[in-house]
Amino acid sequence: MAEEVKSIQLYEDVVGPAVLNQLRQLAGNLEGLKVIHVNSTKTGGGVAEILSWMIPFMRELGIDASWEVIGGNKPFFHTTKLFHNGLQGNQVNLAPHHIQAYEETNRQNADRLRDKLEDADIVFIHDPQPAMLLQLCPNRRGKWIWRCHIDASQPFRPVWKYLRPHFESYDASIFSMAEFTRALPHPQFLVAPSIDPLSLKNVDLPQSEIENTCRQFGLDPDKPILTQVSRFDRFKDPLGVIYGYRLIKKSCQAQLVLAGGGADDDPEGAEVLREVKEAAMDDPDIHILLLPPDAHRTINALQQASDIIIQKSTREGFGLTVTEGLWKGKPVIGGHVGGIILQVINHHTGFLVNSPEGMAQRIRYLFNHREIIDSMGEKGKEFVRENFLLTRHLREYLTLMVGLRRGFADRLIAAA
Ligand code: UDP
Repeated sequence: MAEEVKSIQLYEDVVGPAVLNQLRQLAGNLEGLKVIHVNSTKTGGGVAEILSWMIPFMRELGIDASWEVIGGNKPFFHTTKLFHNGLQGNQVNLAPHHIQAYEETNRQNADRLRDKLEDADIVFIHDPQPAMLLQLCPNRRGKWIWRCHIDASQPFRPVWKYLRPHFESYDASIFSMAEFTRALPHPQFLVAPSIDPLSLKNVDLPQSEIENTCRQFGLDPDKPILTQVSRFDRFKDPLGVIYGYRLIKKSCQAQLVLAGGGADDDPEGAEVLREVKEAAMDDPDIHILLLPPDAHRTINALQQASDIIIQKSTREGFGLTVTEGLWKGKPVIGGHVGGIILQVINHHTGFLVNSPEGMAQRIRYLFNHREIIDSMGEKGKEFVRENFLLTRHLREYLTLMVGLRRGFADRLIAAA
């Protein structure tokens, strides 16, 4: 189902009028600014999720914002997945044909987008896939920012060595948390991602719809539900989740939902899904749901139906699924990594774990202390309201853009 474009005014009930006034005030400095975001997929994954609300809101605030998606063939996305895995620390085999596929696809996209990108005031390039575009737009007039959404704190050296020169030439970069920053010769900013509380993915649903969704997928209304929503990606550790679930299954009678689909720029999904199905071994209490990219309401209903949300990643840029779970008032048991640490405050909004055994222990604990499930859920929701809603995210982007604009003015004065 397509997301309708909303007015920012609707958020007043969620965050209060002062927050919206501040956004309007900041945006007053950016009227008509040409801002382009570039990434590599329109659907699937957190970046697409964020851009789908950010562009309309920037436009509503008077900024001339647009979103471009680079196209690519299989070898390109295979290569960028290697980059992704390598930046997150995996040893990967980077061969000359990978580099060639990466550079060739970036050149083709640059030919298509060059005029537009060179004319923009600010360009946000998301993740490594389109990072080479900067050097292919030599007559750019605006500021270019590399927005890194992944945990590149301990990259596999050959991958970093190849990509670093591409990143270095940016005017600034943005990371989701301080631990992810790298030594780069330009200013670095920290901006945590966020969710849209009124999107189909996050809005309150009627109980009847939640129950219907559960029925549709054959979930047992009498058994507690543990859910992990994720692309089928090894860093999300779906096999670890199944293993941890098996450890508690006998004593807790719970059912496990692993819901996910692919992203256009993630070619490994099918293989991981096959491994997950194999590991589930036809257990009727493990529900592996392969969902289309626009199944936002379905995912929302599953999250709302859950007793506990799991996100047992072994590497995670931020983990919007954690934010989504917390916003629905659910405790989250998350891997002790990356942006999950910003959101899961151990013993308050959920538990951080380092192993399937740790996950099982925490699930058992929560099932034995039902009242804590509710109190953690309440704390989690308020924590997200304070820190991880789109209004805070927009404010930080606007502030950054105002700063960059001042930079233009200073340069003009210096040149005069
Ligand atoms: N998501 C989805 N369908 C799926 C899997 C994930 O809509 O099959 C959404 C999920 O609800 C979340 C985002 O994609 O909003 C995933 O973001 P996250 O930061 O958790 O992980 P990423 O995929 O970016 O690594």
